[in-house]
Amino acid sequence: MMGTKEKQKIFSNYRKKIANILDENATYSNWIDWKWQIKHSITTIEQFQKLMEIEFSEEEIKKFEHTIEKFPLSITPYYLSLINKDNLFNDPVFKQSFLDERELIITNRDIADPLSEDKDSPVSCITHRYPDRVLFLVSNVCSMYCRHCTRKRKVGDKDSIPNKENILKGIEYIKEHPEVRDVLLSGGDPLMLSDKYLEWILDEISKIPTVEVIRIGTRMPVVLPYRITDKLINILKKYKNLWINTHFNHPQEITKSAKIALNKLSEIGIPLGNQTVLLAEVNDCPRIIKSLVHKLVANRVRPYYLYQCDLSEGLTHFRTPIGKGIEIMESLIGHTSGFSVPTYVVDAPGGGGKIPITPNYIVSWNTNKVVLRNYEGVLSIYQEPLNYAHNFCDRNCIDCKLELHLADGEESHLIGIEKLLSDSDKSISLIPENNERIKKRRILRNNKKLIND
Ligand SMILES: *Cc1c(COP(=O)(O)O)cnc(C)c1O
Repeated sequence: MMGTKEKQKIFSNYRKKIANILDENATYSNWIDWKWQIKHSITTIEQFQKLMEIEFSEEEIKKFEHTIEKFPLSITPYYLSLINKDNLFNDPVFKQSFLDERELIITNRDIADPLSEDKDSPVSCITHRYPDRVLFLVSNVCSMYCRHCTRKRKVGDKDSIPNKENILKGIEYIKEHPEVRDVLLSGGDPLMLSDKYLEWILDEISKIPTVEVIRIGTRMPVVLPYRITDKLINILKKYKNLWINTHFNHPQEITKSAKIALNKLSEIGIPLGNQTVLLAEVNDCPRIIKSLVHKLVANRVRPYYLYQCDLSEGLTHFRTPIGKGIEIMESLIGHTSGFSVPTYVVDAPGGGGKIPITPNYIVSWNTNKVVLRNYEGVLSIYQEPLNYAHNFCDRNCIDCKLELHLADGEESHLIGIEKLLSDSDKSISLIPENNERIKKRRILRNNKKLIND
């Protein structure tokens, strides 16, 4: 039970004032009611000015109006209350949630769907890119519209939540593809669904024997922590293979309310991860990211990915060079606990998937020594074993002296570089589809054939 002091912290006088501007008679129990929060989300420039006690210039308003036409606005009262009004235009919560005319800048390098999620989509709710896992888009709506959303092209689309028929098509697809062992519910925000609808989806997925893991990607603990109700917890705790990934970008977002929500989730044994997007003028600073990851692990949230900002339209002003990400990784690896360090990834344009990037730690090597450097710049050698017996692998596990019980062995065929490295595959190269040299060879071969005929 929440004590009066705790309540006062969650429903501070400042928040009470915000609540009462939005809804005259709002009380503490309204404030912590996620449906009240969504119903009273801030969607107009006028509301925002009133709540922040600021008056934008006419010129500013004009710019914001242009922006809102293309990319709508929605901020939960809770998330709005995290903005530091005294330093509005530099505030990281403001920058993630409020309009910026620079969203309208579209360069010729920007792509509406940079990750080609639509192209890798066998049925409307599913993106199947990797061999053993799928992205299942179960909701097109969010409680807050992140200005840096990678699916910005879809934000505010009216055809919101996929109906049961559509969801069942996704479920069917997963059933028909037993190689899918990991299902990632995303969207939109899956926790925008009603408890009942979400439970139904989780039940349906759980019935598929080939699915080993279910993940939910949600920003609710950040932008609307009151969504993590006891009722929701009672539903989620039924699924023993459920993981949750959330999306904190700045230490300022880790509030009392967020901590309570995270604690509820970790208490029922759900492993929690966090995906941060590296954003210019928001968190492109090694000290900010270090503070963020420390606060996350203190709340049992494991930093999972640090994303390079995608090439989606409307995100130019958020992008940093990849060098900034490498600098941040350099400041984390070795300097802090290993489990506080996320993997820095670039989600490759065109659907190549996530590519991990780290500073270089291998300085050089020969046949018996590898020269490595550590985070302090100390150079060390690793002496390679002198009599390592290479274990030739023909993927015939029955005759192998390493004891793998075949039922535990993964059966997928070899792909990519893994294939080039294997003993069992005879490939000697991996050639891009439209390689000019290979095309020429083919023409030459055909011409020769013609002559011989
Ligand atoms: C990110 C992503 C996944 C999950 O990738 P992990 O590296 O396993 O977290 C799956 N499918 C798509 C299309 C993705 O973008």
